[in-house]
Amino acid sequence: MRLTTRPARIAATAAVFGVVLAGCSSEAGNQAAQESDNAPEVAEDVEFEAGTTMAEIADAGSITIGTKFDQPGFGLLNPSGVPEGFDVEIGKIIAAKLGLDEGQIEFVETVSANRESFIQNGQVDLVIATYTINDTRKELVDFAGPYYEAGQDIMVASGNPEGIEGPDDLAGKNVCSVEGSTPAQNIRDNYPEATLTLFDVYSKCADALTNGQVDAVTTDNVILTGLVAGNPDGFELVGNPFTEEPYGIGLQLGDSDFRDFVNDVLEESFDDGSWADAWDSTAGQITGEPAPEPPSVDRY
Ligand code: GLU
Repeated sequence: MRLTTRPARIAATAAVFGVVLAGCSSEAGNQAAQESDNAPEVAEDVEFEAGTTMAEIADAGSITIGTKFDQPGFGLLNPSGVPEGFDVEIGKIIAAKLGLDEGQIEFVETVSANRESFIQNGQVDLVIATYTINDTRKELVDFAGPYYEAGQDIMVASGNPEGIEGPDDLAGKNVCSVEGSTPAQNIRDNYPEATLTLFDVYSKCADALTNGQVDAVTTDNVILTGLVAGNPDGFELVGNPFTEEPYGIGLQLGDSDFRDFVNDVLEESFDDGSWADAWDSTAGQITGEPAPEPPSVDRY
């Protein structure tokens, strides 16, 4: 792992806010990425206007990115403790345009409930973590993107013993989701007859479904697809998405230069094929689907 001043800064910030650094659900809370086969080309001799976040990151030679550590296809620690997935690859594409290679990225675990606070406290420069853009969150952080459109769906035990075909069938059932997520909020707001069990990460919901503690798990279809791939005999996807979940890249509220930069990088990756390559080598391996058409960036 690299030595930079940034981890010290994070530790100091964490101490001030009484935050326990990532690592609560994984021993590897702060991981440097390692060179992969399809590493994006790193920009050379990058120059950014002084005072911008881009200049600060490029000068420091380090970027800290919050992502998920337990979501196959999007953000998952591999057996060597290195994060892998579509979100991780998007992070590498952005870092490369800042002149940083994979070894200069610190991936930190963010769970659904702490993404806004990690951005606000400066513990991360970016959050790329199956993070839905919505108006409530826009009051706290800014979003670049979207770079993918998911939809809320339901995962059940194989054979669907409870006959759950959509959210209306969750009435009287015990459904698991994650604190601080849009799917959990949707169940609270619109399906109050379901009993909601909440954990901090989705892998714990999968365990709860396995041991019969809950009847179903609900979150974005692509996250559930990754969990089904991990236990194809135990789980199945209902396959009937009922919301729109546009994934954005979270950053400090008001940092328009950085947001414009990330939006430019995303659009370039849509055009030059690196976004599709990132999909094909990660989430696409799990869904079995080729990269879809990329969404349109929304420069709100
Ligand atoms: N995309 C949804 C959200 O941002 C669910 C996935 C997640 O919790 O990361 O809340």
